Amino acid sequence: MTVMVQTHVHYAEEATTGYPGTLVAPSDPRAPVAGHSSLVDKMLKAGLLVPTGVLGLYGRSGVYQDVADGVGLMVRRWGQDLGAQRVHLPPVLARSTFLHTNYLESFPDLMGSVHVFTGGDAEHKQLLQRVASDGDWPALLEPADVVLCSAACHGVYPLCTGTLPEGGRIFDVQSSCFRHEPSVNAARLQSFVMHEIVHVGSAESAWNHREEGLACGLRMLEGLGLSMRAVPASDPFFGRVGNVLAAGQLEEQLKIEGVTPIPGTEGETAVMSANSHRDHFGKSFGIHSAAGEVAHSACVAFGIDRIVVAMLAVHGLDPASWPFYVRAQLGLAGPQA
Ligand code: ATP
Ligand code: ZN
Ligand code: MG
Repeated sequence: MTVMVQTHVHYAEEATTGYPGTLVAPSDPRAPVAGHSSLVDKMLKAGLLVPTGVLGLYGRSGVYQDVADGVGLMVRRWGQDLGAQRVHLPPVLARSTFLHTNYLESFPDLMGSVHVFTGGDAEHKQLLQRVASDGDWPALLEPADVVLCSAACHGVYPLCTGTLPEGGRIFDVQSSCFRHEPSVNAARLQSFVMHEIVHVGSAESAWNHREEGLACGLRMLEGLGLSMRAVPASDPFFGRVGNVLAAGQLEEQLKIEGVTPIPGTEGETAVMSANSHRDHFGKSFGIHSAAGEVAHSACVAFGIDRIVVAMLAVHGLDPASWPFYVRAQLGLAGPQA
């Protein structure tokens, strides 16, 4: 029997946009992609990034990934020193956990939800017809009980519900994160890895974690040859109420970013942030300190991809030619001659 497969392949005029029903061809991975920044272009041409046809969404080469793994190991060593419990979370989060984080209240524009097909044969037929006619086929899907993970630390708070042990808990957690902020900027991705050292405990221990973590993170990144500066910052809270929240966050210095200039991008970029959540997650997730008070939390978050991009821009696109001290920190240096 011969199976006839009808293929409708339309290539987008602009390889970086894409629209429903259109298969965006990554084409020649080494060719410049219209609209991308020159730094992204350089990384694509060098084969460090793999194009997908969507802005801010890239695959990574082995060379890129080895550097990312090296940075992850550095964070892990620090976590080990603190006695952190390692947790590797999936890139999706339980919808119920997501709702408890209040992310939807503050950043509805950044989140992503997962939808699935739950119909039978008739609905399947309808779905395929919609696809074939370039119609709104996602409208026929149902929300799943998971959403895309927006921050690596979100998954650890439900593990703490109840009363914490004396001294609280500390986690080393990493996850692939999604944020809907398509950009031509090499350092602003839609899908990126966040690696965090999170503490849940008393008001005092959480604040200390934030402070010590910031200092430790800055030192670690300076050790990789990045020029670091600590800057009080605010999150991009949504809407008019958001402006008030951002002003309060800034005034109380709850968020401090570790920023660095990335050649090829404008200004300075946050490659890490040290955040005090005060009792926000403690309240939402019903967490109490050993002393019976509502728990406080703090996280020190490393944007692994931004760190890799910063190093590639500063030290050059070939990690094999990076200074020995940088390669050694990342575990990339062979035995010294
Ligand atoms: P920015 O102000 O640059 O948007 P942010 O305040 O949203 O950063 P956090 O929520 O503190 O970032 O996330 C922790 C870290 O994750 C950031 O310091 C950064 O290194 C990284 N990160 C955040 N958003 C992105 C992104 N879109 N692409 C790549 N890395 C990111
Ligand atoms: Zn966090
Ligand atoms: Mg942001």
